Amino acid sequence: MALEKVRDILKDADARNASVIAFDAMDYPTISSAIYGAQAVRRPVILMLYPSMDRLIPLEAFAAMVRSLAATVSVPVGLHLDHSSDFSYILRAIRAGFTSVMADGSTLPFEENVAFTSSVVAVADAFDVDVEGELGHVGRATDGDDKKEDQYTTAEEARVFAEKTGVASLAVAIGSAHGFYTSTPRLAIDRLEEINHATDVPLVLHGGSGIPHEQLEVAFRKGINKFNVGTEFFHLNQVAAADYFKENPSPVNAFAHIDSVQAKLQEYIEKKLLLTTWEI
Ligand SMILES: [Zn+2]
Repeated sequence: MALEKVRDILKDADARNASVIAFDAMDYPTISSAIYGAQAVRRPVILMLYPSMDRLIPLEAFAAMVRSLAATVSVPVGLHLDHSSDFSYILRAIRAGFTSVMADGSTLPFEENVAFTSSVVAVADAFDVDVEGELGHVGRATDGDDKKEDQYTTAEEARVFAEKTGVASLAVAIGSAHGFYTSTPRLAIDRLEEINHATDVPLVLHGGSGIPHEQLEVAFRKGINKFNVGTEFFHLNQVAAADYFKENPSPVNAFAHIDSVQAKLQEYIEKKLLLTTWEI
């Protein structure tokens, strides 16, 4: 089917007290394994481009590939630009056909974050594009940001931020962080519930590589509607290729490593997607 609007996927997720899983991807094997994996287990999925991956696949090419593969499956597929704080890059993404973009002003003071995010929403609205904001600061696991409770999102600020900016979704800081964790993260579920009661905007959990599944299941039921995964998926992509060449030091087939990696990526995607109860 054609690409689905991210706001419609999130609205459905919210109505079901469920979450859609969003994967960062950067080439044909990562994009196709996510889309075909979603089709195999009948789950919706969102494909995201992280701006620093633009040197591997320009966003125009990424958008075209996701759009074309989405048309070959029958589950909803969304297209989203991950973390950008660069207004002109966000505009380029909108021009390239991204139907959803993240305006990341989370390192700015509250009012500046509101101003930056609102300016992106104003432009995005004109093109019927959704905007995800971030409030609180998710940060990096290697910096211990998952443990910095003073950076967590508060319910009252989330309410005001959503109202003032008009974002379609909001990334919240509740004890997760990007990259691999140095110790097991512990999500602040009470805080999540408070935020979820304070605002109707769908909530997004970043830093999905290494959060125990039991915590995720609770988070999905208590208000998280979009769950972002990047690090784990890219790491598997690398390890699967390394494993292949270790087992096949003198490969005769020039393409077999791609098939091998893709199969492992799709197996991972299917397992991850089964964490969400939302079956199509
Ligand atoms: Zn993130």
